[in-house]
Amino acid sequence: MNDLDRIADDIRLCHKCPLAQTRICAVPGTGSGKSDIVFIGEAPGAREDREGLPFIGAAGKFLDEMLADIALSRADVFVTNVVKCRPPDNRDPLPEEVRICTEAYLWKQLEVLKPKLLVPLGRHAMHRFLPVTEKISEIHGTPVGITNPLSGEKYVVLPLYHPAAALYNGSMREVLKRDFREIPKMIEKMKYEK
Ligand code: SF4
Repeated sequence: MNDLDRIADDIRLCHKCPLAQTRICAVPGTGSGKSDIVFIGEAPGAREDREGLPFIGAAGKFLDEMLADIALSRADVFVTNVVKCRPPDNRDPLPEEVRICTEAYLWKQLEVLKPKLLVPLGRHAMHRFLPVTEKISEIHGTPVGITNPLSGEKYVVLPLYHPAAALYNGSMREVLKRDFREIPKMIEKMKYEK
């Protein structure tokens, strides 16, 4: 069992915050433990809670479509959420729940994964990494540097709209696809900056 699997096991058994009382399944995340790219949503939804997997359903299908568009699949990236258990009635996670969960798990997952690029999906996930004064309508597709508070490692964050926001909005779909196409270019550029 590797470090990422160990963290996932801890998440599945976790009772560190009140969300443990209402979840069905915790959702640690899935994908490659060696990927340069980590996609991060805010929290699992109802279907994710039932199945223990991130980004399934219609938004997840669109995520898969955008990955395919840049010649990637779920097996090539890691997909997770800021908070690993579903808040009841799809409410926003409370600041204390976010603090406990990110300190216990997300930063540790990133420390193990050592990605080049973090891609928060949607403004809620984005605001876990960038100041709340940032507007996703202005900053989407713009890379920003951040530091892991646990390890001191540096990452580039590329905030993108949430796939669900684009499901029934043709122009938003095009914006999101255009932003996605920046991902391979950025990864390629980072190889030469090492
Ligand atoms: S949300 Fe995070 S901290 Fe809270 S119970 Fe789930 S895994 Fe534990």
